[in-house]
Amino acid sequence: MALIVHKYGGTSMGSTDRIKNVAKRVAKWHDAGYQIVVVPSAMSGETNRIIGLAKEIMADPDPRELDMIASTGEQVSVGLLAIALQALGKKAVSYAGWQVPIKTDSSYTKARIASIDDAKVNADLAEGKIVIITGFQGVDELGNITTLGRGGSDTSAVAIAAALKAQECLIYTDVDGVYTTDPRVVSEARKLNTVTFEEMLEMASLGSKVLQIRSVEFAGNYRMPTRVLSSLTDPLMPLAEEIISGTLISFEEDTNMEQATITGIAFNRDEAKLTVFGVPDKPGIAYQILGPIADANIEVDMIIQNQSVDGKTDFTFTVPRGDYNKAMDVLNASVKEHIGAGNIIGDAKVSKVSVVGVGMRSHVGIASQMFRTLSDEGINIQMISTSEIKISVLIDEKYMELAVRALHKAFELEAA
Ligand code: ASP
Ligand code: MG
Repeated sequence: MALIVHKYGGTSMGSTDRIKNVAKRVAKWHDAGYQIVVVPSAMSGETNRIIGLAKEIMADPDPRELDMIASTGEQVSVGLLAIALQALGKKAVSYAGWQVPIKTDSSYTKARIASIDDAKVNADLAEGKIVIITGFQGVDELGNITTLGRGGSDTSAVAIAAALKAQECLIYTDVDGVYTTDPRVVSEARKLNTVTFEEMLEMASLGSKVLQIRSVEFAGNYRMPTRVLSSLTDPLMPLAEEIISGTLISFEEDTNMEQATITGIAFNRDEAKLTVFGVPDKPGIAYQILGPIADANIEVDMIIQNQSVDGKTDFTFTVPRGDYNKAMDVLNASVKEHIGAGNIIGDAKVSKVSVVGVGMRSHVGIASQMFRTLSDEGINIQMISTSEIKISVLIDEKYMELAVRALHKAFELEAA
């Protein structure tokens, strides 16, 4: 019998009425002959609320205790959903992460899954039970409760699906799929029927916040077909329709992809750029500049080093805007101390816009089309970076939406 994992986000679990709707949907799938494991999030707002309580007491609470608190939101959800299913006459059982167990490392508030035991769950499924497992949490070697980072229930669901060798992992959420770009920026954005996990990884890391990025990595590593679909539809809608709704995150060779050149336009509003002028062009400089930034736990994204003139060069990189001030302080200290470079300047009002698509592998001229489009709009490109399936540019934040709209049009993404 085919096993399907369902994941429901906070909005979908947001009230007892919504939980009853989730139960109806799950029961419908079960009636159709599927084995079902459900991985819900906490009710919407709940994780923020309980973490907020801890922060009322202390600004920077002990991460172990934070996880003890944060993990309880999901525990309420699974119990409520089990009751809702039982009220419909289904056999259902809920488990916290430690009961399965879902073992993780001990990095509280951002733990990584190490292993998932399938024995208990498989035994329940064999008895015809619907199994409900908390998202977001696990247990470390010493028996401490851990959490996987905000939005971590997505990762729990895909990891559980992989461990149980499910046929598909369905992520029910408050949007009905993955779009060519954010429909709030481009109203003509189109829902994609399929997207490859590599494209999804780029889109997720570039700011399309539909899924936690680690869940997409899991889907890729374990080749778990994962579908994003709406939980706000009629829970009793015909299964045949529901099965093909949303966006399937799949594998290039498994699908006859629409083979558009470009799949989507991703963007990230909140970037910042730092430049060190006149650094000596000699071995070890990039390391001396970026080492302290990494030590301060700041993620560096784009990097450019110029051609050197008279033995000196300029070095520019980007960081998340929230880390800008910290990065500036670290840079000032380390550059003054070790490198003896000239000025440091920064700009915290830059955004990144990217065109993404596996079709890029087999088409030439994507970059020039992108640059021509931006040039036609009079938008200056400050930095460029590329991968096999993506071209990103850094631009002034005030032109970001204009750039996204112009590129969406130029690559004809609204066309069906
Ligand atoms: N409840 C957790 C959070 O809000 C995990 C999740 O919803 O995915 O971050
Ligand atoms: Mg979420």
